[in-house]
Amino acid sequence: MKEFFENYGLYKAFVLHKEYTAGGNKFVIPTDFVGQTFEYKCEKEDAFRTFEIELELSYEPYYGIMYNLSDEFIVDGKLNHTFKAICRCKSCKKYHVEFQLHVYSNDVITKDLKRMSRPISNAPAPPPPKIKPDIFIEKIGALPKIEITPNKLITNYFDRESNKWYYKGINALAQNFGIGALAYFRRIVEKELIHIIESIKLLPDSHNAEIQKLLDKHKENPKVSTIYDNIFQHLPNSLKVLGDNPIKLLYNQTSEGLHSLKESESLEKASKILVLLEFVIKKINEERSEIKDLKDIVKGLK
Ligand SMILES: [Zn+2]
Repeated sequence: MKEFFENYGLYKAFVLHKEYTAGGNKFVIPTDFVGQTFEYKCEKEDAFRTFEIELELSYEPYYGIMYNLSDEFIVDGKLNHTFKAICRCKSCKKYHVEFQLHVYSNDVITKDLKRMSRPISNAPAPPPPKIKPDIFIEKIGALPKIEITPNKLITNYFDRESNKWYYKGINALAQNFGIGALAYFRRIVEKELIHIIESIKLLPDSHNAEIQKLLDKHKENPKVSTIYDNIFQHLPNSLKVLGDNPIKLLYNQTSEGLHSLKESESLEKASKILVLLEFVIKKINEERSEIKDLKDIVKGLK
């Protein structure tokens, strides 16, 4: 759950419980979260510190008592409620961030699943419930706005212009603006894809001459996309592990119309492009540093 508080942007769901069953120390209602800690940036101290979760004062009388999953947390049989988590820096005790959180289940929470205290009786225990819903949590608001940390590997690889689009893209993604994020990532792919192929060409495990031939042909006629189809066999093995052609996949994202996509489809697509871009650039980087290491070793042997 630390991962959720530390790194998740708005509206990105985190699985709190897979196949929830009652009992144990589970995060379902607001008071369950009190005292949980995670690492976050304290703007007052300009450093990463441990933050601890509190609730609004109105919850205080219920600390340690509110064990029941009462009706105020249920809508149409499903778990569905929101609350504000106040997360305070444990070091300075002054700086805090606030998250508006939404906790919900994908299926009905039956009465048996609730942590109700049953009167003691000799009656046999009820049969185990058939429905075991998954329970999720998402941030639906944040104060101050969540800052997204860009991936250093990417920002080192791109120039200023591409980094500007990259930064806008990941922020749009974190706020669930799928169409916006997709537009930025597509712009990056359109601009950087040939540059990426040129970087790949220089890797030791690529077919250097063949890739150069493809690049020359592309230069003659940039409108023809054969380079993206034909490059796969010439890639280094590390870029072939997907079994699919990552360069072609990236190219395909730019050739499809934007207007036909719904917001949710754009969001999914934008996330996938980002993962793919990060994968390709990470591999290029790894192979480059491998060459550097080898060169250093060879130098040492001389
Ligand atoms: Zn602090």
